[in-house]
Amino acid sequence: MAETPNTELLKKLPQIEEVLQSPLLADLTHIPREIVTDAVRAQVDALRQRILGGAEPSIETEEIARAAAARAAGLSKPSLRGVINASGVIIHTNLGRSVLAQEAIDAVNEVIAGYSTLEYSTENMARGSRHDHCEPLICALTGAEAAIAVNNNAAAVMMVLSEFAAGHEAIVSRGEQVEIGGSFRIPDVMKQSHAHMVEVGATNKTHLSDYEAAITEETAMLLKVHPSNYRMTGFTESVDIRDLRSLADARKAETGQEILVYEDQGSGAFLRLDAFGNYAEPAVVESLNAGADLVSFSGDKLLGGPQAGIIVGRKELIARLKKNPLARAMRLDKMTLAALEATLRLYLDSEGAMERIPTVRMLIEPAECVKERAEALKAAVEKKLPKGCAELNVIPETSRAGGGALPMCDIASYALEVRFLAGNAQGCEEYLVQKCPTPIVARINQEAVLCDARTVQNEGEIEAIAEGFAAYFAELSNSASE
Ligand SMILES: *Cc1c(COP(=O)(O)O)cnc(C)c1O
Repeated sequence: MAETPNTELLKKLPQIEEVLQSPLLADLTHIPREIVTDAVRAQVDALRQRILGGAEPSIETEEIARAAAARAAGLSKPSLRGVINASGVIIHTNLGRSVLAQEAIDAVNEVIAGYSTLEYSTENMARGSRHDHCEPLICALTGAEAAIAVNNNAAAVMMVLSEFAAGHEAIVSRGEQVEIGGSFRIPDVMKQSHAHMVEVGATNKTHLSDYEAAITEETAMLLKVHPSNYRMTGFTESVDIRDLRSLADARKAETGQEILVYEDQGSGAFLRLDAFGNYAEPAVVESLNAGADLVSFSGDKLLGGPQAGIIVGRKELIARLKKNPLARAMRLDKMTLAALEATLRLYLDSEGAMERIPTVRMLIEPAECVKERAEALKAAVEKKLPKGCAELNVIPETSRAGGGALPMCDIASYALEVRFLAGNAQGCEEYLVQKCPTPIVARINQEAVLCDARTVQNEGEIEAIAEGFAAYFAELSNSASE
């Protein structure tokens, strides 16, 4: 590779027009010409960058045309598509967080196949509100007076802060100044919503007296933020909702000043998952009972529904949120509403919810059942692999809840471990993601590929994983015999 750019090569790069005239591209009549032109330009630009970086790639016109054709054709292939999650991370944000229950899928299908009652009341035969579909269910499940669902919990936090704390002070503990994945940081959200953030306490310890000392006439809110996937252990202390409530009540009795107690609960849960003992995330109802005026949480984390943010709390506060222009900007569409309503309805029967909502089911499925699935996976892979290419074992593994929930919980699980006698783990992992018709996301550990069976959904996925491994080894032996 040359150290300095090969200027001769740069000068010889073909013109866009020249590449476009190659017979291969001239025949691409089913793709709009502008798209083909853009693809050629992108391909030539990429080559120019590589040459400037010191490389000496081939600049043959036909070859550029072929690459440009592949680029243009790529647009007609789906980008957002299903994957098989064999990573063992249950609420995997990169892989779309929660898998919806069949009931939710059916509900979405029904409202997208035709017109719906999105904003129509059959009872009054007149205009209705899209808020009416989920609110009664959320209230029934949490004991809240009122509720509103918006696009996601980040939107919910933004909306609560801008409605109730814009131009005023909101007090938050330094121990809760967290950043949640995807650059959602509490101080930045505060700034965006024009609330003045007043930080109290130290990173590890915040006392009730810290909040008390920080209250001024400008204080509109005491904000508590769930630390999500961040945990401090050891010499730590935080103030719970009950104490924040007493503080706000005392201030009201003394001066008449209204201070809201709001908790951003992050994951939120309707069921306390007793399987996780002391680590179980607090349920929404517990925060409300402890005295929070408002609580917000995600729809697609522990709840196992579609992407949404749910705000519950006092009726007059929710009524103000419904009138906030942000509620219109952040409103849910009919597909999400249908999925959310159907998921919420499943929670009316908590036993049923644990079986039917995939996220919840995966979280609590006993390790022994996961082991059976791992054994089935091993048998399926074994059947398809030629002898002598890999060693297969079912091994104990640790799954994770993901999505910022239950970060301290090691969820006992089982995985299929594939050790390579031919090929290697890196090559296989790449093949499974990039070459399989449905990408398979597994993990590498010490030169082996691990498929955690906890997040593998069904027989179909087991079969697809077996085919993925078989195809990898088949390609290996093909390229060896070439
Ligand atoms: C995940 C999380 C959010 C953001 O929720 P989204 O539904 O992803 O927008 C906000 N706050 C906390 C504490 C969280 O854990």
